[in-house]
Amino acid sequence: MLRIDDLHTEIDGKPILKGLSLAINAGEIHAIMGPNGAGKSTLAYTLGGRPGYEATQGAVHFEGADLLEMAPHERAAAGLFLGFQYPVEIPGVSNVQFLREALNSQRTARGEAPLSAADFLRLAREKAALLGMDMEMLKRPVNVGFSGGEKKRAEMVQMGILDPKLAILDETDSGLDIDALKTVGAGINAIMRAPGKAVLLITHYQRLLDYVKPDFVHVLAAGRIVKSGGPELALALEKEGYAEVIAA
Ligand code: ADP
Ligand code: MG
Ligand code: MG
Repeated sequence: MLRIDDLHTEIDGKPILKGLSLAINAGEIHAIMGPNGAGKSTLAYTLGGRPGYEATQGAVHFEGADLLEMAPHERAAAGLFLGFQYPVEIPGVSNVQFLREALNSQRTARGEAPLSAADFLRLAREKAALLGMDMEMLKRPVNVGFSGGEKKRAEMVQMGILDPKLAILDETDSGLDIDALKTVGAGINAIMRAPGKAVLLITHYQRLLDYVKPDFVHVLAAGRIVKSGGPELALALEKEGYAEVIAA
């Protein structure tokens, strides 16, 4: 589904990713862990196509297509979803309006008919229920006055509605209390643990991985993947720290 070969990314001419390679198949959940400043968010932004993150070398293919040649909205329409550590607030636009617009622009880009208001509300209600979110919250402006946990829940509702093939979640567990962590973990499993789907979870801590069990764990340090393994690697990192595990 996703194939990254020898990716180099620069920000303002400064090399950040330095030869990162990673392959993700449909049906797999991969976790990327690594010290602060390793380049984890840079990887997520490069895959999403954020301006300023310049891929200077290497290749990225998403279902065979050259991802780096696609505009950000084309990547999203192709089935790529990015969840972020710090969700934006959009005063004056309700979640319902925002999500319907996002879904219908993706459907239109794929040549599918847009959903009617009634069909969209039915879908939104179903996904909100899955994440334990009150529909009344979805009628409020995007993220305005939401707590950290509510923002993450709303983001998972968004993911459920957009129904991506590949979700890249950058520290989606940051700032969550245990209950919110459980709900978000269950949401990721319910939405993304399905044939033909895959997840790239970027996280500092092992705790989210108690709820969303990864098939593979990778350590990102100084701009490349320096170690890969199974879930036991995350436990070793938590116990021994990055320096020990990277040196071993
Ligand atoms: P991580 O997510 O692993 O903590 P980041 O990808 O955020 O790491 O950052 C990797 C490196 O890139 C860090 O050294 C950081 O200072 C640098 N960096 C990130 N964003 C910018 C930016 N906008 N301008 C300059 N340097 C940046
Ligand atoms: Mg960081
Ligand atoms: Mg980061």
